[in-house]
Amino acid sequence: MAIEPLVDGHGRRIGDVRVSVTDRCNFRCQYCMPAEGLPWLERAEILSFEEIERVVGVLAGMGVGDVRLTGGEPLVRRDLPRLAAMLRAVPGVRELALTTNGYLLERDAAALVEAGIDRFNVSIDSLQRDRFFAMTRRDALPQVLRGLEALAAFPQAHPIKVNAVAIRGFTEDEVIPFAQFAREQPYEVRFIEFMPLDADHEWTPDAVLSGEEVRAIVESRWPLVEVPREAHATARVFRFADGHGSLGFVNPVSEPFCADCDRIRLTADGRLRTCLFSLRETDLRTPLRAGCSDEELTEIVRDAVWRKELKHRVNEPGFVQPERTMSRIGG
Ligand code: SAM
Ligand code: SF4
Repeated sequence: MAIEPLVDGHGRRIGDVRVSVTDRCNFRCQYCMPAEGLPWLERAEILSFEEIERVVGVLAGMGVGDVRLTGGEPLVRRDLPRLAAMLRAVPGVRELALTTNGYLLERDAAALVEAGIDRFNVSIDSLQRDRFFAMTRRDALPQVLRGLEALAAFPQAHPIKVNAVAIRGFTEDEVIPFAQFAREQPYEVRFIEFMPLDADHEWTPDAVLSGEEVRAIVESRWPLVEVPREAHATARVFRFADGHGSLGFVNPVSEPFCADCDRIRLTADGRLRTCLFSLRETDLRTPLRAGCSDEELTEIVRDAVWRKELKHRVNEPGFVQPERTMSRIGG
């Protein structure tokens, strides 16, 4: 049967869903969570693996073939490899990816690779232990690096991306060490601009260290050459001109990529979000638990996606930060 694609009211075809499997986290990154954590969702509020599988199945049936598991910290959800294996078996799921802080990767890398996850992003904001501690409020860099190594031992897990949030006053000193890391290790390091999704509401436009600024620091040492952008890619990728590795720049604030956005998000409590910065969301959990049919679920999703926001308004006067923080949305 031909797939009727999932499209929004601006003509964009949706192909990618980020699935948050938990709002909980074992880190407290300054740009995401408050030091004391957040009130966690109750167990019963969180979608079961079977409910997630059902939603992913309905989405995949509309051509949403790229699925990324995230959170909170996805690896704190018990039995995550079992969910990964369930989703891998869903017809229409093309690529299954995971974003993690890496703390539990040493324990789980083998099981996740075996379950069929084919893309991994590991978030690391500093390669210096004390500065990593300052940013994440956890003294965990050695553990995370061991996790990254455990993952890197699997050839099928490559290419592995390492994500660093770029914040003015912090990241400038990290740029050269990260560039060196990307040149020496088999990872693509990506710098992500700081977005107004932090629980502490410390974000200001000035705190955004732009991708261009980071790139200028790198180019003061090593020339870079841009690689043609893939469709729907959020990152601009550059390779080192001398052939030693590459770097990515995800610039949602200074160079919004909304016009080409093909993604939606499912929160751990079963809300569909059509933009990171959405102020409204659509409850899928209630109809799911009320026994709705796949056709009914499809219609609810199509209706929500039709109203997907044209663009984010971070750079406009009157921008309103969503109530949910990044950890409760699923980045
Ligand atoms: N806990 C996992 C992790 O840290 O990789 C997955 C969830 S985390 C919310 C997903 C990504 O969002 C991470 O790479 C994190 O650095 C990024 N992130 C969190 N808050 C952010 C913010 N305010 N601006 C930009 N990126 C942010
Ligand atoms: Fe946790 Fe990831 Fe948020 Fe850091 S960015 S607090 S690791 S959810």
